[in-house]
Amino acid sequence: MCERYREALMGLLDNEIPEAERRDVELHLHECPDCQAEYREFQRLASLTNSLKFPEPSAEVWDHYYDGVCRRMRRVGPWFMWGGISVALLLAAQVLFFLVPASPITIGTGVVALIVGALLLWTTFACNC
Ligand SMILES: [Zn+2]
Repeated sequence: MCERYREALMGLLDNEIPEAERRDVELHLHECPDCQAEYREFQRLASLTNSLKFPEPSAEVWDHYYDGVCRRMRRVGPWFMWGGISVALLLAAQVLFFLVPASPITIGTGVVALIVGALLLWTTFACNC
């Protein structure tokens, strides 16, 4: 394919090039089988990528999701139990980071404890069901 047109072809595909350049590129596409083939491949990939996009969940979906998590947590135990677990996880992370000799396992476990502890603390705090 002609290197000069490579970027322009992508621009044409995304409809992001000025009118004058667009005409030039289209003219070139008519007379250059290499670029034609390349352009078809770009189109194929673009449609493939578009068909793979997942629909963005709405805010309502997230609300229901959090409500569900929240209710399940309430069924298992009261807020102070979850708060206690979160604080324990956060403390465990501190111990793993600062009081135990560093190794990939202690650091990895510490990071997981920190993330889970923080998420749990946030969920416990934000939960209002
Ligand atoms: Zn060409």
